[in-house]
Amino acid sequence: MSHISIEFFPPKTPEGAEKLRAVRKTLYALKPQFCSVTYGAGGATQAGTFATVGEILKEGVDAASHFSCIGASAAKVRLELEELKAMGVKRLVALRGDLPSGYGHGGEFHYASDLVRFIRAQMGDYFYIEVAAYPEFHPQAATAQSDINALVAKVREGANSAITQYFYNQDAYFRFVEDAVAAGVNIPIIPGIMPITSASQLMRFSDACGAEIPRWIRQRLHSYGDDVESIRAFGVDVVSKLCEQLLDGGAPGIHFYSMNQSNAVMQISKNLNL
Ligand code: FAD
Repeated sequence: MSHISIEFFPPKTPEGAEKLRAVRKTLYALKPQFCSVTYGAGGATQAGTFATVGEILKEGVDAASHFSCIGASAAKVRLELEELKAMGVKRLVALRGDLPSGYGHGGEFHYASDLVRFIRAQMGDYFYIEVAAYPEFHPQAATAQSDINALVAKVREGANSAITQYFYNQDAYFRFVEDAVAAGVNIPIIPGIMPITSASQLMRFSDACGAEIPRWIRQRLHSYGDDVESIRAFGVDVVSKLCEQLLDGGAPGIHFYSMNQSNAVMQISKNLNL
């Protein structure tokens, strides 16, 4: 079977950490190639990321720490890379990240490609580096082509693999991969898959990150109102079909944005016979 990886965010409370342990235990049945933990997203601390990454490694599963660089000094980045190496972490998801609105563009890193270059210069080939890719294009990209060029730059600096922002339109993914390959990208581009479990949450995230929710999905979700069961059943159905089409069309695997929940990911994986 092709690659499966699963993403978590660092829990903010001891109860959340306990719940996430149970979720991970369930999801390990899928034998993920690695599990990753977000960094700094939504104001979460780096300590929470590293602690969760450490737990996953102790559970005998390969773990990737997300790592964002915007606003950070080179000295701080170097220290944190050393800390991750000392923990035995071998995988990173190297990102620019986002500064809270109101902050300028401080720090020594401007783009994720600067971070990838820095990691390779400081740590050689020790880390396997994943980077982000955007089939529907990053909201700040000047043009579609410049966003593809941004991925090309990350590959040139030494990225090993890419994970995409989530999307619900497989044509956007296939066209993006075609164009990226034509521009010289020669690393796997793994589709990032966001299960649909809550209409309001999905709309909120998607507005912020520029992922398009097709009108037909919005309208269906809207028509279910507060009927959570119907939303979940519809979500599993739509996302299972999306994954099936992606894998049939040659996608090298799937990266699940689990949102620290196991049900939807398990059901989708079952539908796909993963
Ligand atoms: P970059 O690749 O640097 O791109 C950012 C923007 O700059 C793009 O518009 C690009 O086109 C443009 N650009 C790049 N290079 C140049 C250049 N040389 N000249 C001009 N323009 C350029 N955020 C978190 O805070 N924590 C996380 O853990 C996290 N995990 C993520 C995981 C995945 C798989 C994905 C897809 C996103 C994740 N994010 C996370 C969100 C990410 O940090 C944001 O999308 C951020 O705005 C961009 O990060 P990037 O690494 O894609 O940046």
